[in-house]
Amino acid sequence: MKHEYLTYDFRSIPLYADVSPEDWNDWKWQIRNAIRDIPTLEKVLELSEDDKTALDRTLQKFRMAITPYYASLMDRENPNCPVRLQGVPTFHELEDEEGDLLDPLYEDKDSPVPGLTHRYPDRVLLLVTNICSMYCRHCTRRRMVGFDDSDLSTDNIEAAVDYIKNHPEVRDVLISGGDPLILSDDRLEWILKQIREIDHVEIIRIGTRTPVVLPQRITPELVEMLSKYHPIYINTHFNHPKEITAEAKSACEMLANGGVPLGNQTVLLKRVNDHPSLMKLLMQKLLSIRVKPYYIYQCDMSRGIGHFRTSIAKGIEIIENLRGHTTGMAVPTFVVDAPGGAGKIPLMPNYLVSQSDRRLILRNYEGMITTYTQPKETVSSSYEISEICDDPNLKSDEGIARLLNGDQLFLIPENLRRKGN
Ligand SMILES: *Cc1c(COP(=O)(O)O)cnc(C)c1O
Ligand code: SF4
Repeated sequence: MKHEYLTYDFRSIPLYADVSPEDWNDWKWQIRNAIRDIPTLEKVLELSEDDKTALDRTLQKFRMAITPYYASLMDRENPNCPVRLQGVPTFHELEDEEGDLLDPLYEDKDSPVPGLTHRYPDRVLLLVTNICSMYCRHCTRRRMVGFDDSDLSTDNIEAAVDYIKNHPEVRDVLISGGDPLILSDDRLEWILKQIREIDHVEIIRIGTRTPVVLPQRITPELVEMLSKYHPIYINTHFNHPKEITAEAKSACEMLANGGVPLGNQTVLLKRVNDHPSLMKLLMQKLLSIRVKPYYIYQCDMSRGIGHFRTSIAKGIEIIENLRGHTTGMAVPTFVVDAPGGAGKIPLMPNYLVSQSDRRLILRNYEGMITTYTQPKETVSSSYEISEICDDPNLKSDEGIARLLNGDQLFLIPENLRRKGN
């Protein structure tokens, strides 16, 4: 398995047998030829009559787009192929589960201007387009992605940039979508340039699935353009070792060589990647193509993706089987993006067994029980360390942090009866 990257022969698919390598490697050709209907899909994959009936019904509600490249990674005969499950609709998408929501993460409700979500104190999320080259069946942004094809208008982008300008606390802008790399280099550069001109913005991050579903998008010209606006970080979205192909590796290498640190956000998906060994292999392979695992997301409560949801316990089991068993570099944070705009909440196995004033009882990944003895004097005042500690701009002053620093004694739910509501 070591250092072996999958290569798939697209010419073995009759529909693509005559496609030239130039066309195949041209991202615009890939987008123009994305599979959007049943007759085309049928030329690439085997579909049963039941599959087709289900597809037909689902496509009336949700759209499909699969790049020929991503389709070429699918197992033609096996409807349970993990790549196929991510791209080809099934009738399960029409089944809502109890509690499913359109916008569970309150991205629209926490939005001061269209396209911009400002939830965390020092960073904003900017959704620059609704369009993707491949529509993931598990997409959390179903309410907008793959409904109407539109980019955020120039006016709206300018309004978002103004908002960021007027909020000096924003030091980090996360550009997402849709897939921002669906935009032309020029359009993307126009956006990056304006954000880079804002003094207080320290880092720019881009979320894109193109290295996975359209690695041809990562061109030398794109990398050169991006590298003018450093520090730029990219987070991508690999979900299965099958996606780590020679093409994906080359796309990630180009970005890394252009000085772009790469992270990965995996979504935990039933039947696709809900197994500890498979996740371990995925995380290790990501490191080998210079991508650092960043998050594993619990599949959230968006409508139409209930069939992908696992228990939360599965995520904890996966982390248990990573931490200590392989390098910490390969261990992402498992998070639940909780409803109501609560944001990302990390969960992990418990390593703290017990504690007293002086001693902690800890267990390691092997189940060994050990201790840590704390010193008698553990408290230092901030001024003893440096003046940085007293900088009000750096102080975390919301929620639990306020309880810890003594600015507030308790947090109380708003609608408690004893408060006279
Ligand atoms: C995920 C997310 C971010 C970025 O979170 P990080 O933990 O900094 O990667 C920012 N804003 C919103 C609304 C998000 O959902
Ligand atoms: S690339 Fe991201 S935004 Fe686009 S469909 Fe997939 S999960 Fe949704």
